[in-house]
Amino acid sequence: MSEAKTPLSVLREVFGYNSFREGQEQVIQACLAGRDSLVLMPTGGGKSLCYQVPALLMPGLTLVVSPLISLMKDQVDALLACGVSAAYLTSALSRQEQLEVLARVQDGKYKLLYVAPERLVHPDFIHRLQHIDVSLFAVDEAHCVSHWGHDFRQDYMALGQLKHFFPSVPVMGLTATADPATRADILQQLRLDAPLVYQGSFDRPNIRYTQLQKYKPMDQLEAYIKGQEGSGIIYCNSRKKVEDVSFKLANRGINCAGYHAGMESEIREIVQRKFLTDHIDVIVATVAFGMGINKPNVRFVIHHDLPRTIESYYQETGRAGRDGSPAEALLLFDEKDVARIREWIGLTENPQRQAVELQRFAAMEAFAESQTCRRQVLLNYFGQYNASACGNCDICLDPPKRFDGTVAAQKVLSCILRLEQAVASQYLIDVLRGKKLKRIIDSGHDQLSTYGIGKDESDAWWHNLINQLIHQGLVRVDITQNAMLKLNEAARAVLKGEMTVSLAVPRMSLNLGKKAKLD
Ligand code: ADP
Ligand code: ZN
Repeated sequence: MSEAKTPLSVLREVFGYNSFREGQEQVIQACLAGRDSLVLMPTGGGKSLCYQVPALLMPGLTLVVSPLISLMKDQVDALLACGVSAAYLTSALSRQEQLEVLARVQDGKYKLLYVAPERLVHPDFIHRLQHIDVSLFAVDEAHCVSHWGHDFRQDYMALGQLKHFFPSVPVMGLTATADPATRADILQQLRLDAPLVYQGSFDRPNIRYTQLQKYKPMDQLEAYIKGQEGSGIIYCNSRKKVEDVSFKLANRGINCAGYHAGMESEIREIVQRKFLTDHIDVIVATVAFGMGINKPNVRFVIHHDLPRTIESYYQETGRAGRDGSPAEALLLFDEKDVARIREWIGLTENPQRQAVELQRFAAMEAFAESQTCRRQVLLNYFGQYNASACGNCDICLDPPKRFDGTVAAQKVLSCILRLEQAVASQYLIDVLRGKKLKRIIDSGHDQLSTYGIGKDESDAWWHNLINQLIHQGLVRVDITQNAMLKLNEAARAVLKGEMTVSLAVPRMSLNLGKKAKLD
């Protein structure tokens, strides 16, 4: 007489794991009790088992909706390898193959069937399903159902109908996107009925989050990387930038390679393999790099350019420190990137889309410019409220100190005015610092009263200060005119001495001591 199967026995005997990860068992029990659920866990958190285990414990078929054909195939292959009868139904199969799969579905031969969303809600398919025993609908990447999600898909919209056609079959939504707006929208769109909402932890305590003013990125990257042990990834926002940065770093003696989707696939594979086997220390890449790559000992992830959403930032930085040892996520921040990204988003034609993207970007910007614990900002974004500061980010380790920056601000503002609001920041700084450059002398700017009044501080210091003035709304960057600096209305009061300016002391380098003391 065999023992009754339990979630734990399935986990052990079928999947070969010893124990559940946090949240899995709770979700599985709710599902077995017939309850709807929404599972929010970071990528790699173990979402798949949340529906795969109940699928094997329930009598009928579990349908899994997934947006990507390649992922379906991987999942099905993995299940088959565990001895689970599973299949997928996509346009990648021939007509004949599809009919065969459908026939086996009819005969109850599968425990799990992966389908694309448009297939699932097709009237013929719904009709077929109504004649067989369906135990569960699992909607993977459930954020695709929401306009608030970063990856809205029209096909997902119709999944709300599932509850209409199958009112007594539980629906489980799963996603790694967990900002409160998206979460609320998923619940509504999928019409989940009194669901269990499982909010997993998004915290990665071994990753230290740091930000540094981007001002001479090549020097900064070189200095940073040479002070590091182990391998890392540098993300750039374009293929051109990837090529440029990897070329320059290689010239500076760093063992690196570029990676982007425009490269030949054989070369990409070689680069990837060399990185995985520690023959290349640093990968300079677009976001194309990293999907499905599991290198546990990545010690740092650098963002050369500001990402557009916290989700992508989190996803990309999450590739650091998978082994649990201390790792660092360094964001090079430049106010000009902000202006540029806003400009791009402004080109979005759909006004609703544009509003969503602006809001998502605002959250990224708030993280980058935060004056309070960065981990708190990050986790709050994912709906994981945290009352105490983390002790393992630049803000916690080196809290910003403030000073009365009125005089320094006046120097900048009056110099912008003297230069007729027609120069970008580097030129402004060259004038402030009294550099004897041909360009300056030829245009007579060495005769200005503001020439040389900023000698005492470095270029980097002034860059940081200018960024703070931009952030405080005194100065703006005109991206349509070669990033020229312009004064805003509020600058007047500062120039007239009617308003004081409180600024943070610019932090010129990361000097935070040894990485991550974890308790
Ligand atoms: P997600 O879909 O959340 O990104 P996956 O379901 O793909 O994550 O799981 C990530 C990895 O963790 C997989 O390799 C999976 O086999 C493994 N995993 C999941 N649950 C457990 C567990 N309870 N014990 C050990 N490994 C697990
Ligand atoms: Zn902190």
